[in-house]
Amino acid sequence: MKFEGENIIEFTQQFSDDHSCLQYLSDLKWSSGYTCKKCGHTKYTVRKKNLARDCNKCHHIESPTANTLFHRLRFGIRKAFMIVFEMSATTKGLSASQVAKRYRISRQTAWAFMHKVRTVMGSSGKHPMEGNVQVDEFVFGGKETLKQGRSKDSKKKKLVGAVELTETGKVKRVYFNKIEDYSSKSLSTIFDAHISTGAKVFTDKWTGYVPISKRFNIHQDYSDRGNSMKQMHTIIHQVKSWLRSVYSWVHEGHIEKYLTEYSFRINRSIYKQTIFHKLIERMVIAKPATYQMIKVSS
Ligand SMILES: [Zn+2]
Repeated sequence: MKFEGENIIEFTQQFSDDHSCLQYLSDLKWSSGYTCKKCGHTKYTVRKKNLARDCNKCHHIESPTANTLFHRLRFGIRKAFMIVFEMSATTKGLSASQVAKRYRISRQTAWAFMHKVRTVMGSSGKHPMEGNVQVDEFVFGGKETLKQGRSKDSKKKKLVGAVELTETGKVKRVYFNKIEDYSSKSLSTIFDAHISTGAKVFTDKWTGYVPISKRFNIHQDYSDRGNSMKQMHTIIHQVKSWLRSVYSWVHEGHIEKYLTEYSFRINRSIYKQTIFHKLIERMVIAKPATYQMIKVSS
C-alpha cells in the first residue's frame, strides 16, 4: 500500500519491521512484472527471509534492494526508510551527525546514505518553470562581505538561482546551479535545465544575459540591486543563512547537493502527500552508488 502523508505514527505502523520495508521495495521494483536479469524467465519463487526472487529456470537470485540505491546497505532497511522519511519531512535539514546518533550508525555511513537520498531529490526536468521567473547570481563561502554582486573572489562558490512565482507573487519553486563564471554559457545552464522558453524571466542588467535573451523571454529591468527582485533576494538570504548554520558539516565541494535538498524542500510542497513514496520510488529506479562514487562525483 502506497504510503501517503507526513504522520509519523502511521509511518511506524506501516513500516513496523524490515520485512514490511522489503515488501514495499519489492512491490515497487517489480510493479510491472518480474523478468530474470540472467535468462529472461518470468516465473520465480520468493525467498521468505529477504523476499528475494529465485528464478525458476536458472536460479539467479535477485533481492528487492539489488541494483537500487539501497544496494549493499550497511544497516537495516527499516533504518534507511526512517532516514528517508525524516529527510522528506524535516523543514530545517538534518546533519549526518544527528542521523548517526539517532540510528546508531557511523557518521560516515549516515553521510553517504544521505547523499544517496539527495541524488534523487533533484528535479526530473520535466516541469520547467513557467509564468514569472526571477534569476540572479550570488556567491557563498570564502570571506563573507555584505557586498552583493558578481564577486571575483576565487574562494567563493558562484551560484545562480531561479525562482518561479505564483500569480500572487509568492515563491512556488526554486532551483540553484553552481557556475564557474558569469558568462552566458554558464548562466544558460539554469535556463536550459529549469526554465520554459515561454516564461517571463526577470534579471538584472548584466550583459551575460543578453545572448540568452535570443532564446528566452528575458526582461532586464532591474538595476537597483537589493530592492528589486524581492522574492529572489529573500531566498538567497535564506539559503545562505541555512548553509552557514549547517556549515560545520557542509563541505564546499558538496554545496550543490545541499542546494538541491534546499530547493527540494520548498518545491515538494506541491506534492507533500506522496513525497516519501516518490523518493523511495526514485531510489528503486536509480542505479546503485558506492561511497567512492559519491566522493569522486562531488
Ligand atoms: Zn533466470
